[in-house]
Amino acid sequence: MTQNIVDPASKTPVTLLGLGAMGTALARAWLAAGHPLTVWNRTPARAEPLAARGTGVAATAAEAVAANRLLVVCLLDDASVDEALDGIDLAGKDLVNLTTSTPGRARARAEWARDRGARYLDGGIMAVPPMIGTPAAGPYVFYSGSRELFEEHRDTLAVPAGTTYVGADAGFAALHDVALLSAMYGMFAGVAHAFALVRKESVAPADLAPLLTSWIGAMAGSAARTAEQLESGDYTQGVVSNLAMQVAGTSTLLRTAEEQGVSAELLTPYLALMERRLAEGGGAEDLTGVIDLLRR
Ligand code: NDP
Repeated sequence: MTQNIVDPASKTPVTLLGLGAMGTALARAWLAAGHPLTVWNRTPARAEPLAARGTGVAATAAEAVAANRLLVVCLLDDASVDEALDGIDLAGKDLVNLTTSTPGRARARAEWARDRGARYLDGGIMAVPPMIGTPAAGPYVFYSGSRELFEEHRDTLAVPAGTTYVGADAGFAALHDVALLSAMYGMFAGVAHAFALVRKESVAPADLAPLLTSWIGAMAGSAARTAEQLESGDYTQGVVSNLAMQVAGTSTLLRTAEEQGVSAELLTPYLALMERRLAEGGGAEDLTGVIDLLRR
């Protein structure tokens, strides 16, 4: 039997602030990979299980920050990052902030870090805690900001999840993260409506689920066509089902909702935008024109 021997001396030491659900998953992944780890959490009890496994537990955030050059922060929100790092010397640190934020706040945080003498990388985690440290589950993190920091620590950052660097603009990780999450909520809204439609019939939700999964998967490919149309500016390019035809079909969706006693409130905002684009003369186009209506 071969034994997996990990030499901690060869692994970059990591300081991690935040042991919530996500922080704890990150900590476990770095520990399992043999990285020396120092953690701090506002509520000390959350660090106890990690201390038992050899993690350094700092009494204060300042002590944890002082322990290592690579500093990963995974706290609830931007305000908690402010609170945790208030007054702490960050000169010479490599700060990787995995706390979910907006693009604007991430850019402000990058400037804030620069003013304190730290290199800065922002991250948007595309995973839930059980996926962390499980490559087969496909977890990854969008990173943006200092490319030098990213390149230097790429291997360490790749331990809990895959890494996707999206640019030197520190706001881009959050922008990509939120773009994908927003698309996800649109999908959740459609799935909720679909289940509601069959709820009072003798259609088992378990029978509808695989049909929904495969249909959404098949339709998701349309994003590539949308991108081509946005780039060419020609929204009629490669149209499969034009807007005029699709708007004509929407009354069937609304009538079915009514017949089934289901509120159409999740559908109507999108259908209203389709109608507006049609009224503006976009009948021969794809659905891409709706994107222009959203821009303020
Ligand atoms: P949790 O709610 O589980 O943990 C929140 C963490 O923030 C805890 O460590 C908490 O400390 C700490 N905290 C909250 N307020 C403060 C404060 N004022 N000062 C210091 N520490 C504070 O959240 P998660 O771990 O799940 O999430 C962490 C980040 O990861 C968030 O930004 C989240 O959006 C992001 N993320 C989470 C995902 C998930 O599925 N969980 C998925 C993708 C991203 P204490 O223990 O003392 O309360």
